[in-house]
Parts: sequence; C-alpha cells; structure tokens
Amino acid sequence: MSTALHDYRRKQIRPVWCSGCGNYGVLRGVEKALVKLQVPAEQTVVVSGIGCSGRFSHYLNTYALHGTHGRALPIATGVKTARPDLTVLVVGGDGDSLGIGGGHLPHAARKNVDLTFLILDNNTYGLTKGQSSPTTPWGCITKTSPYGSPEDSLEVLPILLAYGISYVARTSSLQIEEMAGIITEAMRHPGFAVVHILSPCVTYPVLTWKALRKRLAPLPANHPPADRAAALQLAYSADPIYTGVFYSAEKPILEARLRRLNNSALKRYSSSGKEPTIPSLMERFL
Ligand code: SF4
Repeated sequence: MSTALHDYRRKQIRPVWCSGCGNYGVLRGVEKALVKLQVPAEQTVVVSGIGCSGRFSHYLNTYALHGTHGRALPIATGVKTARPDLTVLVVGGDGDSLGIGGGHLPHAARKNVDLTFLILDNNTYGLTKGQSSPTTPWGCITKTSPYGSPEDSLEVLPILLAYGISYVARTSSLQIEEMAGIITEAMRHPGFAVVHILSPCVTYPVLTWKALRKRLAPLPANHPPADRAAALQLAYSADPIYTGVFYSAEKPILEARLRRLNNSALKRYSSSGKEPTIPSLMERFL
C-alpha cells in the first residue's frame, strides 16, 4: 500500500511555529519528498538541533532525535553508521548549522556520510528572540546589533562547495514544489547532501518574503552540476540569488569505506592468525 502526506505527519503534536513562518513550507516540502520516495516512516530518522528548526523532528511521524545545539550532524552520523539501512534526515537552523555546529560540516563532508542535511536559514536566531546569526547581513539591525551588525555574513554556498560536499543545492520556502524535488534528489544521492533553504522568520524579520520574491532566480539551465568551479561562480551571486542543484558528484560513502577497512582487517587477521593492530592497518592503507 502506498503512503500519502498524512502518513508522515504526527497527529498528536501540531506545529507551534508563528503564523507565516517559512518552516511550514519546509515541513510540507519534506512530506512531499517522503511521499515521492515512499520511504517507510518506521525506517526514517529525523535528527534536529536547537532553535525553531529544532522542533522539526517533533512534527513528522518518523523516528526522531532532538539533539543538543549544533550537534545534530555528529548524532546523525552515529545513527547512520550503526544502522546504514535507515534513511536519516538532519535539520538545523543557520545558527545551529553554521555557528555553534559549523565545525562539524567539513568533517561530515570528508566522511561523505550518507545523510541529507537541510539548513533552514532565516538570517536570525528566532527562538531566542532575534539576535544576529552567522548569516545576518552586515549593517542589519537586530536585538544584539541595535546600531547595525558589525560583521559580514557567511557565504553559505561557497563554503559548502569548498568543503567538497558531494551534493549542494539551494531552494526556498517560497518554492515548495521545487524544494520537494530537490530534497527528493538529495535523499536519493548516495553520500552527504546539503540543501540550503532560505526560509523567512516573520516575527524577527531579517530575510523577508518580499526580498526573496524579488531576488530569487533559477540556476541557468545549462549549468553542469559536476563542475565545482562553475558552481562556485554562481554561488557568489547575491542578486539574483540562484536556486537549484549547484553541484552533484558521486564518491565512496562512509559505509563503503568502513566495509573496505573491515574486510581488509579481517583478511589480514585470518591469514596471520593474529588480531589486527592499528599500526598494521595504517601500514596497509598509507
Ligand atoms: Fe518561525 Fe521566527 Fe516564529 Fe521561529 S520566531 S517560529 S523562525 S517566525
């Protein structure tokens, strides 16, 4: 029997996000992607961090793990490594993913762990009432910068591309159908897939629906997704802000790398009759 949108929605808990929050659009985009993929809810785990986006894991009828601030990625890496048969989706806000948890991103990229990571970027810390975040633009007035933010905002897409992440895309809460398609593709991608989702906070507005409507544009149709240099050039554009799949290429995933290591250790053990040691394994791989 095929699954429908309502099969992925948790009936006991209703979202408590502010009316008009971009997170509702992301929730709908994820539900649509799960329907497209027909992933069984009981085979899916959603891991989130702290912030308004952290509530995401409560609202889907899947297994859920609401972790600590900035630590969703290492938690999800543990889940996926222990149970590679599960589909693991990770959700974080801009502070969670690029501030306190920013140091985990390059290491998830190096491992190429088979996860889909959604960065819900509203350019502010909404849950704690509108402080400036790593993506708040320079000069922007917030609760913690009443005379304007003195810092530049992070260039998110160029950073993701520079880390060597094997699938990098951008979309927004305005484009639910496009978002559902991109999340579907990201979840199908074998390896670490990151989707940067521009999603306004209406209560502490920095990124607004109006600005998104004015500035978003699809990536040029002839953009080759396996060309990282071409992706980087487009990623630096601030006007228009491009949406679509910037980069996609396959490389060995963590599960395959660990299996290879394990097989090699077992082979060495069975031929020598001795237990493998760390130096003997290093000698083999270096
Ligand atoms: Fe959404 Fe902002 Fe409200 Fe949080 S504070 S639920 S991000 S509108």
